[in-house]
Amino acid sequence: MKFATKALHAGVEPDPTTGAIMTPIYQTSTFVQASPGNHKGYAYARGKNPTRNQLEKNIAALENAKHGLCFSSGMGATDAVIKLLRPGDEVITGDDLYGGTYRMFTKVFANYGIKFHFINLTDVNNISKYINEKTKLIWVETPTNPTMQVVDISACSVIAKKHGCVLAVDNTFASPYLQNPIDMGADIVMHSVTKYLGGHSDVIMGALCMNDDKLHEQLAFIHNSCGATPGPMDSFLVLRGIKTLHLRMERHCFNGRKIAEFLKSHPKVDKVYWPGFAEHPNHEIAKKQMRDFGGMISFDIKSKSKEDAFKIASSVKVFSLAESLGGVESLVNHPATMTHASVPADERARVGVTDSLLRLSVGVEDIDDLLEDLKQALG
Ligand SMILES: *Cc1c(COP(=O)(O)O)cnc(C)c1O
Repeated sequence: MKFATKALHAGVEPDPTTGAIMTPIYQTSTFVQASPGNHKGYAYARGKNPTRNQLEKNIAALENAKHGLCFSSGMGATDAVIKLLRPGDEVITGDDLYGGTYRMFTKVFANYGIKFHFINLTDVNNISKYINEKTKLIWVETPTNPTMQVVDISACSVIAKKHGCVLAVDNTFASPYLQNPIDMGADIVMHSVTKYLGGHSDVIMGALCMNDDKLHEQLAFIHNSCGATPGPMDSFLVLRGIKTLHLRMERHCFNGRKIAEFLKSHPKVDKVYWPGFAEHPNHEIAKKQMRDFGGMISFDIKSKSKEDAFKIASSVKVFSLAESLGGVESLVNHPATMTHASVPADERARVGVTDSLLRLSVGVEDIDDLLEDLKQALG
């Protein structure tokens, strides 16, 4: 099945009792048993819920994976992956991560004796300096948030396999429409479903996809034991959102390209971070592993002034100033004080997250209105 057909139909069955074409919202915590243990596969809704099940099958199909697990947030999904580890284990990850991921690694799991190496993964050769027999996980985000670094997933997978460690890829920015890490050898794909998959800024959710049965069994055990599982109403909303994922992504990419080009030619704009530009440091890798370049763009302004950046962020009218991304509406964000405030200033400076950097999540509005809005805001 092709992507668009899978988005609508994969994993989704009409309701067996009524024929309802839309997956019912099984708003129940428990399921009646005929005699102890004699049930229809559902016992208690933390472990398994029919609405969530259909969504898990659907997301797994979009990632060409055998198994899917949905979590009550993206962070809940990441948390489950790190719980595969033991004290003394080491993780190699990127130096430009989603702020919440960096916070969880450094402020939560570092206290449990897990060591994290934050390195520049845009050149995978850097991994060899840090990998050893204690390395159990390589955690990759690509493209990265907010500087749109691109990491070669296939090359990471070769290294992970050689050293017997798990490769997990945070695929939130690309969405399964643009990139399928499992096809490139990743063991686990993580999503903040909150973003493009949900797509309508109305749900917080996360997901993990994997092929390996044993890995699925371990993660499903953590999923049920630790309990970061989403409710059926949210699962329904995401199933509904995914039915237009391919249509939304097409427009996100179209609008994203126009805005990236506009910003690049604007006299007040300094640097534009977007993997679709030929001069992007890993453009060739982006071309190889992504189907298009998406609607996430960051840019720095020539004045380098935080006040000027704040002025732009507060004078937009069609864009809204807000955290998050991947919804139908266009958003602007000031990473240094919003999404990446939990990353120390020197770490931020090292990867280009300056006080004058702005990040755009380009939505699916009419491109003329978006361009007009940025024109007036930049002044
Ligand atoms: C938002 C986000 C997360 C965290 O997901 P939540 O659903 O907010 O918990 C993780 N990674 C990336 C790249 C994100 O953008």
